[in-house]
Amino acid sequence: MKIAFIGLGNMGGGMAPNLVKAGHEVRAFDLSEAALAHAREGGCATVGSIGEAVEGAEAVVSMLPNGAIVKDVYANHVIGHAPENAILIDCSTIDVATAREVEKLAAEAGYEMVDAPVSGGITAAAAGTLTFMVGGSELAFIRAEAVLKTMGKAVIHAGGAGEGQAAKICNNMVLGIHMIGTCEGFAMAQRLGLDPQVFYDIASVSSGQSWSVTSYCPVPGVGPKTPADNDYQGGFATALMLKDLKLAMEAAQTAGIDPQMGRRAKELYEAFDAAGNGGLDFSAIIRTL
Ligand code: NAD
Repeated sequence: MKIAFIGLGNMGGGMAPNLVKAGHEVRAFDLSEAALAHAREGGCATVGSIGEAVEGAEAVVSMLPNGAIVKDVYANHVIGHAPENAILIDCSTIDVATAREVEKLAAEAGYEMVDAPVSGGITAAAAGTLTFMVGGSELAFIRAEAVLKTMGKAVIHAGGAGEGQAAKICNNMVLGIHMIGTCEGFAMAQRLGLDPQVFYDIASVSSGQSWSVTSYCPVPGVGPKTPADNDYQGGFATALMLKDLKLAMEAAQTAGIDPQMGRRAKELYEAFDAAGNGGLDFSAIIRTL
């Protein structure tokens, strides 16, 4: 299949070579020369513009920083330039409203399009083990799935346009709240004289159990190996958690609800990020408690 790939950063740079490995012909574009060089090493053909990348493409995949860029790329460079029968797949994490707006523009021009944000970070992107949450029609999902399954371990149809983004931000809002709660639990247990390993052993098989407790424990030396064991380097950056919590609060406002725990999690990560910790794994927030 001829696939155009736009946005070859931390995530896209790992994903595009997996399409090549699966036998697809990938024409890739990024604004950064370093990203293009990396994509060439991964077997992608690189081109000088989005127009060249999408020429004759059967699928277009994008992995871009934010909604404004996604809208610009699709409205001005993909829609009307890619063949009308190309399936358009945006894997970026963006706000639900913009995802729906871009998908509407695409549909009006005769394209099938899905929003397909991912769970899993840079390591999963390179290993081809991402989880994709897909919003779009049944037909668009089936077409997108054929492309996405070569880059991930799971491809799930979340619902109509924008529902992939909705699933992603609701999941990450739960994660942000859970992580802060987990950090508070471990910090308090320690103050009360409880050995963190003992608290881990108990909470992991009790009703306090969650992914943050059991699989991503924020305390160094406790549970499986996590960024906590590496001085909170790598993993899921605080700045990215904050981005997702901001998107969640925007979506909540649009939906006319006020998720108080989500709002508080956003405030706490905002303060942690502003104190210069944006590059640390999000579990490092335990240091503030
Ligand atoms: P990144 O900044 O490393 O990569 C984005 C790339 O897009 C850059 O190489 C940039 O040059 C390129 N770009 C920007 N504008 C462009 C344009 N107009 N045309 C072509 N290329 C353009 O970001 P990333 O970490 O790869 O994240 C990408 C998306 O994935 C984001 O929406 C992010 O929220 C989401 N995400 C990231 C992670 C993670 O762990 N990094 C995990 C899940 C989801």
